[in-house]
Amino acid sequence: VKHIGVLTSGGDAPGMNACLRAVVRMAIYRGIQVSGILRGYAGLLAGEMRAMDVGSVGDIIHRGGTVLRTARCKEFFEPENQALAAGKLKDAGIDALVVIGGDGSFRGAQALMRHGIRIVGIPGTIDNDIPGTDYTIGFDTAVNTVLDAINKIRDTATSHDRTNVIEVMGRRAGHIALLAGLGGGAESILVPEVPFDLDEVCARLLRGHDRGKLHSIILVAEGAGSAVEIGKRIEEKTGLETRVTILGHIQRGGNPTATDRIWASRMGAQAVEALLRGQSNIMLGVRKGELVEENLDKALTERNGLDEPLYRLAGVLSI
Ligand code: ATP
Repeated sequence: VKHIGVLTSGGDAPGMNACLRAVVRMAIYRGIQVSGILRGYAGLLAGEMRAMDVGSVGDIIHRGGTVLRTARCKEFFEPENQALAAGKLKDAGIDALVVIGGDGSFRGAQALMRHGIRIVGIPGTIDNDIPGTDYTIGFDTAVNTVLDAINKIRDTATSHDRTNVIEVMGRRAGHIALLAGLGGGAESILVPEVPFDLDEVCARLLRGHDRGKLHSIILVAEGAGSAVEIGKRIEEKTGLETRVTILGHIQRGGNPTATDRIWASRMGAQAVEALLRGQSNIMLGVRKGELVEENLDKALTERNGLDEPLYRLAGVLSI
């Protein structure tokens, strides 16, 4: 490996910049060339790449988003475009690519691999929904953003004796809802992985109300249903005044937390080391607190379930 490329693809996540910085600086430290590809596979197809030097990633470690920008690119599903993209890399002398993104982005990367490009994937998404890893870059920041919002909503909820239903991101997964709900002391956490009974949620709310609770927080993962609908039904069933907040894209932004910056830095550096060791078709991940290299085919077929003991604990603590 003499020249590596790096791109961010799919949804952006806080910490992607810290990861990019680590890839670029470790490559330079190890004496290899590194190019940044703009706008994911869309930019690759358009040949949008630039040589990265030490200064090109200065002053970005603390910023959310991705300075390389990102994209979803339908054209890249076409085999002829994948061949074209691999050709663009080869023409630029790039023989290995670090892809920071989600599982869709890794499947795209595997298409390039079939054309002779070495690949390392780094999991970057706030949703933590990538198989093969316990953690994805951006997840910790998103959970903290939601916690911050819960704190603020609690202040006003308590003053008005209201029930608040808060919808959080996560796509088809409930990881953000679970961690923010546990950390934020939510009364109920509704996630797509666990079927729920709204009557039970309401009974719990009324029990809390009867013992003098001044506020209640119901956290709804977007994959579990619409907070607007759920809020309406809760109000009808309980008669308690209910407000709904959909946190939306504020969860995707913000300065990355220390946890996200540190894992992003470690993963970025490790990606370069792995390529120099001759590795390819791997994804970096975190398992039981350790940085691991997983075979990409295996990683993509693993199940990424909810932490069920943690879910049960949240239920016990919110009685
Ligand atoms: P996130 O979960 O944060 O959205 P992601 O990487 O899963 O991230 P996708 O939109 O699924 O997001 O994928 C990003 C891009 O990767 C797609 O727009 C497409 O260009 C490419 N891609 C995804 N799946 C494939 C595939 N099976 N084959 C080739 N390219 C793919």
